[in-house]
Amino acid sequence: MGTVALACRSLGEACEWALVADSETEILTRAAEHYKCAHHVPELTTEWRARLTTAMRRT
Ligand SMILES: [Zn+2]
Repeated sequence: MGTVALACRSLGEACEWALVADSETEILTRAAEHYKCAHHVPELTTEWRARLTTAMRRT
């Protein structure tokens, strides 16, 4: 079992937010909260989920 990391900067955002979690599901859940609060994305659409999943780094 590795970890999954996601940084907003990987998506071209001028934002320092980054996250490490145990699963992609957890990342998406917490990213949904962050994008809602910080990036005016009320919900993660399929397109957003695809972008986030592509930007994730697995270790
Ligand atoms: Zn951000």
